[in-house]
Amino acid sequence: MHVQTFGVIGAGQMGGGIAQVAAASGLNVILQDISNECVERGLAVIAKNLQRSVDKGKITSEQHEAILDRITPCTDLVNMRAADFVVEAASENEEIKFKIFAQLDEICPPHAILSSNTSSIPIGRIASQTRRPDKVIGMHFMNPVPVMKLVEIIRALPTSDETYQVTVELAGKMGKTPAQASDFPGFIANRILLPMINEAIFCLYQGVGDKESIDKVMEFGMNHPMGPLALADLIGLDTCLAILNTLHQGLGDPKYRPCPLLRQYVESGWLGRKTGRGFFNYQPQL
Ligand code: NAD
Repeated sequence: MHVQTFGVIGAGQMGGGIAQVAAASGLNVILQDISNECVERGLAVIAKNLQRSVDKGKITSEQHEAILDRITPCTDLVNMRAADFVVEAASENEEIKFKIFAQLDEICPPHAILSSNTSSIPIGRIASQTRRPDKVIGMHFMNPVPVMKLVEIIRALPTSDETYQVTVELAGKMGKTPAQASDFPGFIANRILLPMINEAIFCLYQGVGDKESIDKVMEFGMNHPMGPLALADLIGLDTCLAILNTLHQGLGDPKYRPCPLLRQYVESGWLGRKTGRGFFNYQPQL
């Protein structure tokens, strides 16, 4: 199948990044979110990222314009009727994703592949909301999408070989390196990453170290490009909590229980970079 029109659901940090990379690879992109404000914020971040690439001499201003021109923003999901391939990157909430997939199944043409950028929710559960489970797959990009090379591709039990092949080819076209994972909560990336982040939050909670020391140990002692608390702020503390809840419930092992401090931050609206405050303080985003 030749993918020409690429739908992205959710214009947050991941959806915006996915739309940018897809448009830069020559695909026509339809970018949908629930309100004009959300879509416009997403487009403004894309424009800012592209401008940075122009300033660094990585792309020309003509390329910047051409990439933006290939992205059609919208708020109505019905626009996905033109899509050959959709990536859903809405909030990490099972109810929201189930509803979106049931609607996409009604709206999208029969040949369209429906993928999810979920960090942790099993793809088989999402696929079962549709009448085309063979055409549902996980396409898990890393944050920030324009920078990170990996895409984890998750095959659920009903995912067909053709759906898998088209998705691998598409990842290649978008300049990404695919890694295949089986359909268990958290897949590979977050099965390994989130317990480490959670343990770092437990270290803070139990006074083993202050936030600066915890991050310093992992940065300078383990050569991580950023500390686990700063990384949690980048991912979004709400997303981290949602992933840990999925690991905890889905795998039934108490080692995945989210740290109470993480829960407290999320309940206080301290979600990390996106709200200007998490474990560290940030300039408010656009
Ligand atoms: P985000 O909070 O930045 O953005 C989520 C967007 O989804 C918001 O703009 C919101 O308005 C929109 N949305 C909510 N309900 C919607 C609906 N019904 N229809 C359309 N849009 C809707 O979150 P994010 O960090 O971009 O995460 C999005 C997805 O990507 C989640 O599933 C998350 O687990 C996954 N993910 C996140 C990261 C990360 O580092 N943040 C990395 C990989 C995957």
